[in-house]
Amino acid sequence: MSATSIRLFIDAPLGDNTELPLEAAQSHYLGNVMRLQQGDTLRLFNGVAGEWQAEVAQISRKQAVLTVRHQTRTPEPEPDCWLCFALLKRQKTDLVVEKATELGASVIQPVITARTQADHVNLERLRAIAVEAAEQCERLVVPEIRAPLPLHKLMASWPQRRLYVADERRTAPVLAPAPGAAQPSALLVGPEGGFTDAELEGIATAPIVSRVSLGRRILRAETAAIAGLALLLASHS
Ligand code: SAM
Repeated sequence: MSATSIRLFIDAPLGDNTELPLEAAQSHYLGNVMRLQQGDTLRLFNGVAGEWQAEVAQISRKQAVLTVRHQTRTPEPEPDCWLCFALLKRQKTDLVVEKATELGASVIQPVITARTQADHVNLERLRAIAVEAAEQCERLVVPEIRAPLPLHKLMASWPQRRLYVADERRTAPVLAPAPGAAQPSALLVGPEGGFTDAELEGIATAPIVSRVSLGRRILRAETAAIAGLALLLASHS
């Protein structure tokens, strides 16, 4: 029997001494990839139950059954910060989803703008990337990955949430959120070609909106998304 560092996101209730049969993909991962044996331990988590230690009760090539033992971490409050970003090509979108998960975004909202380079995503694949990133970075929550929305639709239904718009034109103040300001917020990052003037006018109609600079250099969109989130969430980490 050995304790492993494996963490699995389980989207189901977790409790003492409950038997948990795993789905095929996770059974395959534990049995055939990580070659766990009966008695080995791992950690299971989700945002409601927190994190629990579990033990392999049975494992075969097709099915693993775990016994959930005891809680190792209670659920933790997380900052409520959305990342809204103009959809990028597949690899860069994957990178943004993985890094936004590690950095603590609560919602990841791809946006379709006039100059967006893609207009659809494989949501299941992005959700799998987010789960894997949460498992790796020891987060208890997997961010919600939403279906892409046209920018005008996103803005038409924008909630009472502070919106920081990443603006590379050097006329905006540098992004510097008040430390510990746990208010709901969002970062909006444009496409490689930038927002159009009409889009920037539409964005400015949001109830609580600030144009922010991420420094004097013109960052690639994926860099801006990652750097902007890091700045926004550093005061919450
Ligand atoms: N219009 C830019 C240009 O002149 O080349 C191209 C857009 S930039 C590559 C992609 C997006 O990243 C921008 O729409 C903006 O949201 C964000 N961005 C890049 N650099 C930034 C900076 N220094 N400050 C704030 N946002 C930035």
